[in-house]
Amino acid sequence: MEIAQSAGATLSHYPHPSAEGRFGEALSIDVAHLGNRSADRQLLVISGTHGQEGYAGSAAQVGWLLSSESEIALTDVGVLLVHGLNPYGFSHGSRTTENNVDLNRNFVDHTRPYPENPGYEKLHHALTPAVWSRDSFDSVSGAEAEFIETEGVDALFNALVAGQYSHPDGLMFGGNRREWSNFMLERILGDHIGGASKVAFIEWHTGIGDYGKPFFLSFNDPQSEEMRQAALWWGPDVANARPHGMTRPAYRGLVFYGVQAFLPNARVAGAVIEFGTRGPEAGAVAMRQDRWLRFHGEAVSTEMQTLLWADLRDSLNPASYLWRQAVVDHGVVLTRAALCGLARW
Ligand SMILES: [Zn+2]
Repeated sequence: MEIAQSAGATLSHYPHPSAEGRFGEALSIDVAHLGNRSADRQLLVISGTHGQEGYAGSAAQVGWLLSSESEIALTDVGVLLVHGLNPYGFSHGSRTTENNVDLNRNFVDHTRPYPENPGYEKLHHALTPAVWSRDSFDSVSGAEAEFIETEGVDALFNALVAGQYSHPDGLMFGGNRREWSNFMLERILGDHIGGASKVAFIEWHTGIGDYGKPFFLSFNDPQSEEMRQAALWWGPDVANARPHGMTRPAYRGLVFYGVQAFLPNARVAGAVIEFGTRGPEAGAVAMRQDRWLRFHGEAVSTEMQTLLWADLRDSLNPASYLWRQAVVDHGVVLTRAALCGLARW
């Protein structure tokens, strides 16, 4: 906060009305707005949609703030930093919200029937064991191998990560109503950049891609001007993402879709930018571990819980200073590239 303030930002806080942090602390989404706050062009940078990934996103935001004195004097562009979009998950070290909702699957139209995910239905039981053990890993592997045999590996990936709306205690649950963070994002955008007509979008995540390297997931239409812009800023890889080498899943309810809906008069160009951690299995195991700790963790000793939480955190936010330095270095460069590109768009 002090860093944002000394960079000349206007700060706002959106306090959570009920949920508490891990140490009983108050929770809020914190927002910093810099540069020309009423400009037609605004860069939107979001961290902490998934709790454990918030550390890397926060570091990229702060790294840019510390490196950017000259940029924030830009007269044509504003920069809106949204810090900790899912403050409950950030504090508790969990991917999901206070309601076990994957916020990045929550931005669907909740007044309409939810999309089905029959593949997830088949796997739900194996993916959500009551006991965390070698046996439970084996039953996931068995269920996945069976699934791959009939439907293929891309279909498996899609079933696992597209999102599901039928099991509140499951993985990638998109919710049955709008989450608090979903409402707040709409308010934040309305309060700060509702008048913008061109918005560059960065949402920091971790878990996909090579160790410490950025990986782009753009949800702009491949043929659109927005995609062309994003590729100008960050290179052609932006348009060709194959997460973990798979066909890109039919993700539902992404934050990006929420941003588009909340800014109906703006063209929104950009991407989720991931930083790779432990490789393709990391995210899948982390999600199951996260869910198991939340629903069943008390079945094991405090020492074991502490160990599993630490391992979970390290799987999406590696302790290595080399990894952390890489995140900040890439974060600053990619933010700067988007900002310069936006100024010329
Ligand atoms: Zn994520």
